[in-house]
Amino acid sequence: MNLRIPGPTPVPQEVLSALSGPMINHRGPEFAAIQNKVTEGLKKVFGTKNDMIILTSSGTGGLEAAMANTLSPGERVVVISIGEFGERLIKIAKAYGADVVPVSFPYGSAADPDKVRQVLKSETKVNTVYLTHNETSTGVTNDLRSLAKVIKGEFNKTIVVDGVSSISSLPLPVDEWEIDIAISGSQKGWMTPPGLAMLSVSPRAWETIAKAKCPRFYFDLKMAKESADKGETPWTPAISIFYGLNTGLDLLFKEGLGSVYERHASIGAHTRQAVKAMGLQLFADERYASNTVTAIKIPEGVDWKAFNTTMRKEHGVVLGGGQGAIAGKIFRIGHLGFFTQKEIDDCLAAVKTVMGTMGGLKAPARSA
Ligand code: PLP
Repeated sequence: MNLRIPGPTPVPQEVLSALSGPMINHRGPEFAAIQNKVTEGLKKVFGTKNDMIILTSSGTGGLEAAMANTLSPGERVVVISIGEFGERLIKIAKAYGADVVPVSFPYGSAADPDKVRQVLKSETKVNTVYLTHNETSTGVTNDLRSLAKVIKGEFNKTIVVDGVSSISSLPLPVDEWEIDIAISGSQKGWMTPPGLAMLSVSPRAWETIAKAKCPRFYFDLKMAKESADKGETPWTPAISIFYGLNTGLDLLFKEGLGSVYERHASIGAHTRQAVKAMGLQLFADERYASNTVTAIKIPEGVDWKAFNTTMRKEHGVVLGGGQGAIAGKIFRIGHLGFFTQKEIDDCLAAVKTVMGTMGGLKAPARSA
């Protein structure tokens, strides 16, 4: 199977082998050693000297942890949304009783720093701003550096960033961009199965956390930090996924982070070029197109379910569909973590064949 969804992503053999390591005492020296090593590796990839917390959960658990630990009931917060994962941030904030000021942009576009500036000028009570770096549902990467310059540089707010589908594939230098909490998930660019959420937490974020009053228990970040300092986790961790992430990090460093980022940038550009050459249309504003996932409009007259079934059954390619408001209107090709150019080209060739058969290619197809 050519797994081309934007997570879970394919896992290299080295990581698969590491996953089969023996169970150990999660309160013993072996676990402490691996957690310390993984923590140091994560800090390098996140580009931070901040604390690193590793939770046993999916990425959404990491987002919920960030919310539960930074919010107080009734607190006014700004949440920037450019797609389904931004909407998820809004839903979580509301679930914790926050008074949310949503700053939403049309799906397919990126957040505009000027609009964010305007909102923050009038929202003087807001302490924290939440946003998504790479919006996996629409294939758009926000210009986080520029947004952070406004949010932190001009308004000095606490910034919490969902970097689930970007960190380790796209540059997100946490300290340089002054991100207070950045969150990722093991099943994305880390070449590891799902099961761990990783969060960097700045001193400023710890101050916010100390004041926040929302209830928390399993996801109590202070408790997690105190345990991590002793080489433990508060609760039983997904030990096997720690093994996998440890090896995933080794592979990232072996390749070199610069090369990893270049590989993603070049496959992103290659995928977009090939899609356009077929006569299909990209969903994302190309100036902000993501290099981890490409979203493509489904041409009129083509049924997503039929297209997807044929791709899977006849070509062994598993694509991502549209989510929420854009279900049935777009499909997505994931190109993050562990992939080869051949897998992407095989996927593109299959898209061209199946779309062609279904009458989805308006312009005469040129070579993909
Ligand atoms: N945020 C983004 C940007 C994502 O891409 C995802 C997963 O697709 C999540 C959050 C949620 O992660 P999970 O499905 O691991 O809970």
